[in-house]
Amino acid sequence: MLPVKRSPMSFGMLSCLYFAAVLLPWALSYVEGLAVRGVYEELVQLLSIVGLSMMLFQFFLTARVDAVARHAGVDNTMRLHTRMGEFLGYLILLHPFLIVAPRFFVAPSFALSDTWDLFTRPETSTGMYAWCLMLVWVLMAVFKERTGLSYESWRYTHSAGFVAIIILATHHAVTVGRHGRYNAWFDTLWIALCVLAVGMVLYVYFVRPRKVARQPFRVVDCAKGSESDWYLTIEKEGNFPFDFDAGQFTWISTSPSVFARNEHPFSIATTRKSLPKVSYVIRELGDYTRQLGKLVPGQRVWVDGPHGVFTQNARNARGVVLIAGGAGIGPIMGILRELCDQKDERPIRLIYGNRTIEQMSFLTEIESIQSQLDMESILVLEKPPEEFSGHTGYINRDVLEKIASHPDAGTWDFYICGPPIMVKAVESALLSLSVPRDRILYEQLGF
Ligand SMILES: Cc1cc2nc3c(=O)[nH]c(=O)nc-3n(C[C@H](O)[C@H](O)[C@H](O)COP(=O)(O)OP(=O)(O)OC[C@H]3O[C@@H](n4cnc5c(N)ncnc54)[C@H](O)[C@@H]3O)c2cc1C
Repeated sequence: MLPVKRSPMSFGMLSCLYFAAVLLPWALSYVEGLAVRGVYEELVQLLSIVGLSMMLFQFFLTARVDAVARHAGVDNTMRLHTRMGEFLGYLILLHPFLIVAPRFFVAPSFALSDTWDLFTRPETSTGMYAWCLMLVWVLMAVFKERTGLSYESWRYTHSAGFVAIIILATHHAVTVGRHGRYNAWFDTLWIALCVLAVGMVLYVYFVRPRKVARQPFRVVDCAKGSESDWYLTIEKEGNFPFDFDAGQFTWISTSPSVFARNEHPFSIATTRKSLPKVSYVIRELGDYTRQLGKLVPGQRVWVDGPHGVFTQNARNARGVVLIAGGAGIGPIMGILRELCDQKDERPIRLIYGNRTIEQMSFLTEIESIQSQLDMESILVLEKPPEEFSGHTGYINRDVLEKIASHPDAGTWDFYICGPPIMVKAVESALLSLSVPRDRILYEQLGF
């Protein structure tokens, strides 16, 4: 089997580095010889230290610091941020109950009053405020679709709320946390990490925009390309360096001020050959994407990026399978166009799904590329017109089976891009068809 050449860091590797980082404070507590008590206490201690360190590291995952983003990929770090956020919520919400749980066995008659005491003691007040805020913010994250808040308002609230939570939680750790009480350097570590985490937020909101301001673009054209999609083309406004790999994405803001942070991630649908122009396929979904028709040629656009690791550079696959759902055709077209520019001789397969034929884009160009490469394509429609020769329904196991059962499929890379639900379903189907996990790359159109 052909070993996978990674591009540039896999999600698994990033996760390993992340766990090493969040476990480091706990490991350091042993190096310093801090007291170890019973097994249960030690477990609670581990979970408390890891909980706080995860909370602080959440800020590093979303910071878009170039040096980190280049190696880890912002799509990977955002994915890790979201997944760890869920776990962190449980960890922190359980924290006070894990501390009092033994009392329910040792002295059950005092357990309830001890629990009440823990929640109301003046010295634990900052911890309790952090805990209550965490509860509200976790519920807001879980029910974010139902809160009625726009994504932007939700994001501001999310950042402000969690800054308050980490400051309160750090105060709690250095005043009440066991290691904090006994060891000054542990306090210094928490305070330093907290300051860095708050610094990351300030970086995202105040420093990063200054960098973005140095690479202004302007709208060339924004027109309806299919029933549901806009094709947006923008152009560099100046001679600054800007390069990207096909399949990457950028955050775009069309607000007058670069500090407004009213930005949305969209994947580039072209290759670097198109520079100084860059194009996107954008599906109408909500407040922002529905009013893209109001953009006028010449209007300023702020571009943060390129970001992401959904690229075919630095990979060594012997075949490429491209699977697009809806607006996922944008980056998939970018990669396909790049393969065509490179006159790639490997087998290429394209599966492209949508609800209706009116939502399909680039069909003529796909046909033309197909005639130049060793390529086959399958169109999938949920509601096909009469005399449709493709597959009816979703991109499912039936559609994927023929491709995945090719004798060389184990050495092919499978690129999936589309709405999160579609990406998850296709990934599971591929895994069930024995496609190696490290041969599957995906970009979900949503973090
Ligand atoms: C890496 C990445 C690449 C993407 N590429 C494309 C693309 O090429 N074409 C395309 O049509 N869509 C793409 N998306 C999705 C696109 O960003 C959202 O559809 C768009 O931001 C929706 O904005 P809205 O205000 O119109 O919709 P809303 O109704 O406000 O939002 C719909 C959903 O989109 C997500 N969303 C909204 N605003 C943001 C934001 N600022 N940042 C992150 N997510 C947000 C949220 O999950 C929200 O629930 C991509 C998303 C990601 C994460």
